[in-house]
Amino acid sequence: MKFCSQCGSSALELRVPTGDTLPRCVCSNCGTIHYQNPKVVVGCLPVWDEQVLLCKRAIEPRHGLWTLPAGFLENGETIFAGAARETAEEAHARVEVGPLYTMISLPHINQVYVMFRARLLDLEFGPGPESLEVRLFDENDVPWSEIAFRTITRTLRNYFLDRKLGVFPTHVSALERRAPRPDLSGAA
Ligand SMILES: [Zn+2]
Repeated sequence: MKFCSQCGSSALELRVPTGDTLPRCVCSNCGTIHYQNPKVVVGCLPVWDEQVLLCKRAIEPRHGLWTLPAGFLENGETIFAGAARETAEEAHARVEVGPLYTMISLPHINQVYVMFRARLLDLEFGPGPESLEVRLFDENDVPWSEIAFRTITRTLRNYFLDRKLGVFPTHVSALERRAPRPDLSGAA
């Protein structure tokens, strides 16, 4: 942030406001405290019989890789409506949004993923502007090495394991920053 969105001043400083515990971007002209908090990514795991619906991404990041329909929750939108909207936008698919399934904190990028199980209502789906291709996959055909995000891999792995057990609890977890690749150049 270069200018205060309240008054337009560039007199911004990072400091801990009185009564707070974390440094915030504070406008020293008008006093506005610009809080920044995590964004919510909401989506669906649409299922038809034994198959799950995946979208091949037409946008960066991870262009060309597969994902479940998901995106940022909008202001004024419920989490259920957001999940259904993203599924309609990315897969042109109509779903009945079911139970909360995975909730995954990503503290290093300030996001929380909230994924719902969902029942695909018909087979009239197809790629929206953010997708190259949309199709149903059997468990054995899921392109595990071409899944766009670890949150999606985790959600799908949970699903296929839970399906074998016949129960679908809500999975609340976190994913930390991926460990850097070990530098083996100087290894003995
Ligand atoms: Zn200001």
